[in-house]
Amino acid sequence: MGSNKTIVWFRRDLRIEDNPALAAAARDGSVFPVYIWCPQDEGQFYPGRVSRWWLKQSLAHLDHSLRSLGAELVLIRTQSTLAALLECIEAIGATKVVFNHLYDPISLVCDHNIKGKLVELGISVQSYNADLLNEPWEVYDARGQAFTTFEAYWDKSLNMQWEHVTLLPPWKLVPATGNVAKCSIEELGLENETEKSSNALLARAWSPGWSNADKALSEFSELHLLQYSKNRTKVGQNSTSLLSPYLHFGELSVRKVFQLARMKQILWAKEGNSIGVESVTLFLRAIGLREYSRYLCFNFPFTHERPLLSNLNFFPWQADQNNFKAWRQGRTGYPLVDAGMRELWATGWIHNRIRVIVSSFAVKVLLLPWKWGMKYFWDTLLDADLESDILGWQYISGSLPDGHELERLDSPEVQGSKFDPEGEYVRHWLPELARLPTEWIHHPWDAPDNVLKVSGVELGFNYPKPFIEIDLAREHLIKAIFKMWEMEAAAKAANSNGTDEVVDNSDGIESLPIPKVILKNNAPCPTYSSNDQKVPTFQNSKSNQFNRKRSKHMQEERPLQDNLHNPNEGGTSRTNEDCSSTAESSMSKKQTTSRNSFSVPQSCSSSKDNSFLECESSDMKQSWQEQIDMEQSSSKDGKQRIN
Ligand SMILES: Cc1cc2nc3c(=O)[nH]c(=O)nc-3n(C[C@H](O)[C@H](O)[C@H](O)COP(=O)(O)OP(=O)(O)OC[C@H]3O[C@@H](n4cnc5c(N)ncnc54)[C@H](O)[C@@H]3O)c2cc1C
Repeated sequence: MGSNKTIVWFRRDLRIEDNPALAAAARDGSVFPVYIWCPQDEGQFYPGRVSRWWLKQSLAHLDHSLRSLGAELVLIRTQSTLAALLECIEAIGATKVVFNHLYDPISLVCDHNIKGKLVELGISVQSYNADLLNEPWEVYDARGQAFTTFEAYWDKSLNMQWEHVTLLPPWKLVPATGNVAKCSIEELGLENETEKSSNALLARAWSPGWSNADKALSEFSELHLLQYSKNRTKVGQNSTSLLSPYLHFGELSVRKVFQLARMKQILWAKEGNSIGVESVTLFLRAIGLREYSRYLCFNFPFTHERPLLSNLNFFPWQADQNNFKAWRQGRTGYPLVDAGMRELWATGWIHNRIRVIVSSFAVKVLLLPWKWGMKYFWDTLLDADLESDILGWQYISGSLPDGHELERLDSPEVQGSKFDPEGEYVRHWLPELARLPTEWIHHPWDAPDNVLKVSGVELGFNYPKPFIEIDLAREHLIKAIFKMWEMEAAAKAANSNGTDEVVDNSDGIESLPIPKVILKNNAPCPTYSSNDQKVPTFQNSKSNQFNRKRSKHMQEERPLQDNLHNPNEGGTSRTNEDCSSTAESSMSKKQTTSRNSFSVPQSCSSSKDNSFLECESSDMKQSWQEQIDMEQSSSKDGKQRIN
């Protein structure tokens, strides 16, 4: 053991097992584990009530474990994380600070700045990967550019040579001591008095903390993983792993999850258990989506502010606070949507399927800005995770090359009969509909008066009439898309004329303020090893363009739109989008010629002969959409397609 005194700066890596920063510090000498709570740093993304409740429990749990190894977790509440770190360094005479990487846009900037300052002051800083299978700067395509579709990204990730071993917890910790202004867990202020009674209920359903995460993982892998492929679409039941809050706070090592599941898969393959093999493949893809969410945030660090695809900048959002409120309160008149929103409010958790349904409703039916929904989820979810939240909302709102098309609008009534066929989920969360027969449970507006009467349902009184009829909503959506295209075309024309008259819509909407992340002028971060944290640089390149796939439904509308854009090119794809890759660190290593451009897999590139639809039918056969929303949706003509 060395003679260093090292500060282990805990953030969202609240575990002792497979924690590279903690392990390195323990090897090196004495340790000073610290958690710094700086509400100012959180800004717009200050965690919501349930998320803070989880954090509080998890910190207490970690402190207990660290004490049993020999060192307590020092808790500090501060107005400046840097000042608190400097105080600790001074107090114990530390020579080194270690921490594990975070990849959300806010942390990327904060960490970069703090690290720069510490290094300037001559303090040794080392950072590690504790959150991912692969660092986002390790996975690039053959040209050294960032992937922009999940399939290609995950395929590459799975085929990379990993040398990961999960690290055991330190045998014992030698504490470094010093006098700092530490506080108790209560004084951190993660939970106020009024929140305590609501939070008490959470403890009945969830047990935060790394050892509980371990139990949850074992239980899932022993009892539920085998049936994951069959059960994962069932809403209202514990059909999935429920690991997301543990993974968010780093209470569980994703490497450990991956290894465990992969070993099961190998054993099941040997036994010829194809259901088990398929279940693990799908579960690992879910883990892959989490990886991808970090990958996108790192390579496109603006994605919490504006969509990855620039088309949505011109979308005529209806920033209507009343509609937003009705959605939040579960008063839209669509039972499945309302049940989901009530469950979210009451428990802080909803199934992925329900997340897709309620978020699509907000964007496609209410035409609410996707950023509002993203922020509301952030405020209310127990597993609120900026990267996964961004990925989810961009996925459903037509902002990703391989996500839902913007024009796709699934009927909540149809989805209700698919995912809650007996109506049990709706009855549980909407007691006012509890006596309605299954036949009408997902569309009470069609029920005969006498049925409503005996069920005690008075539409417009104890349960709302539907906000808007779904076919009308579809018409509105299509009109809005046409308007968006018009605006986009006008903007392009204005640009090519050298005028600057058309501005995008993103500033026009009454938007919840979301912090601006300015990364343009960041100097390279001084690092100490090749494993060190890389920092993305945000540059707006318009060099690469690509096509979005089109649904059959919208292709039927195409001639009109094509005329709008280019009267001479009736059959070509409409949306050429521009995005920029900002993975400068990797780019600079690889020294490619187009270092900041958005990379598009060859088979999906924007040529007439090689459309995105072709890409979907081959490369995208088992699309990641399947993983996100896991449904078979019927298109208008009744044909089934997987989306
Ligand atoms: C609009 C929207 C917002 C979302 N916001 C969040 C969020 O704030 N935090 C969050 O953790 N997940 C979010 N998700 C993703 C997903 O819904 C949850 O991760 C999942 O429901 C968690 O349940 P589970 O742990 O039982 O998942 P499982 O199906 O058991 O999957 C295992 C793990 O894989 C990861 N995972 C699974 N699906 C996804 C996905 N689509 N995207 C990213 N990671 C995934 C999660 O870490 C999850 O714990 C969002 C999805 C949508 C559509």
